[in-house]
Amino acid sequence: MRKKIVAGNWKMNKNPFEAIEIAKKLKNEIKNNNDSETIIFVPSIDLFCVSEILKASQIKIGAQNFYFENNGAYTGEISAQMLKETGINYALVGHSERRILFGENDEMINKKIARALEHQITPVLCVGENLQQRENNLTTEFIRMQIKSALKNIKLKNAGKIIIAYEPIWAIGTGKTADKNQAQEICYEIRKVLGEIYNLNLASQIRILYGGSVNLKNADELFEMQDIDGGLIGGASLKEDFISIANNICKTNFADMEIHV
Ligand code: PEP
Repeated sequence: MRKKIVAGNWKMNKNPFEAIEIAKKLKNEIKNNNDSETIIFVPSIDLFCVSEILKASQIKIGAQNFYFENNGAYTGEISAQMLKETGINYALVGHSERRILFGENDEMINKKIARALEHQITPVLCVGENLQQRENNLTTEFIRMQIKSALKNIKLKNAGKIIIAYEPIWAIGTGKTADKNQAQEICYEIRKVLGEIYNLNLASQIRILYGGSVNLKNADELFEMQDIDGGLIGGASLKEDFISIANNICKTNFADMEIHV
């Protein structure tokens, strides 16, 4: 049984003073449970103070970005090694905003995945097509290529630690959500390609999230789909909705759901 995940991406929002207040609220209001996990991806400047607030809670903290070298003359960057030494165990890799706005390419993303795993940081690999690719029926081919390049030379024994987020670019921050069948179809394809690269057993264990305008109204129906193991939530992660989504997910009974690849 794959444990569901509700993950929040705060993007470039909230200074440390504000972040501390939000972290305290999440700590008080998100109920502890053993059936799902909550992770928040906060700006680098908030990582340390938020982890201090949440250290005794079940809520996990992740970085939104890091560089693929361990240290050196890379002004402005932080490394996976520094994250690990600060007690951070998760990081987003290849978010579309980083690919588009900061020129991250598949090769860099592959290096980041390898570096995160080397430091026992769980990478949340984000993949997703743009509107033109969807309209030209190129989605599956493109997502398969993104997964294969990101996981190039990543060994089977490490691959099981990775989480994947399917985030269609046309749905991020736009209010347009992929409907549950569109999202399921691509999450299934992702599982299929993982089966081809590794094996079916591993493919059935990896958690695959959906991201793209998830909110309180659409979360349940998306997360009930067979290959969708929760969500990566941007805009709504800074609203009360996030607390409700995190608390609702543990009420939903996924126990009877069949795992397939
Ligand atoms: C995201 O930032 O990964 C995201 C999915 O954003 P939003 O939920 O706002 O679409």
